[in-house]
Amino acid sequence: MERSAPPCERIVTLRPDATVECADCGLPMFPIAESSLTVTLECANRHRVVTALPAERAMRVLIDNWIAKKGAQLHVQHERWERGEDEE
Ligand SMILES: [Zn+2]
Repeated sequence: MERSAPPCERIVTLRPDATVECADCGLPMFPIAESSLTVTLECANRHRVVTALPAERAMRVLIDNWIAKKGAQLHVQHERWERGEDEE
């Protein structure tokens, strides 16, 4: 099992659609997971960033929608188990 470095927490500003531009490759990053305090975003090259969950309710709904869409394709839950961060 390939294991990438743990994501580092950065200050990123979410776009109005709750995505960000990847600092490494410039591709859009989409929310793939969230905790009560943070949201994890990933680009097509699997670069990841963890940032604070925005306070705006509308933004959180967008994030939930992205995660729901991604969850159908990726086994996000499995990855969360791997990292041992399923529950806070
Ligand atoms: Zn990237």
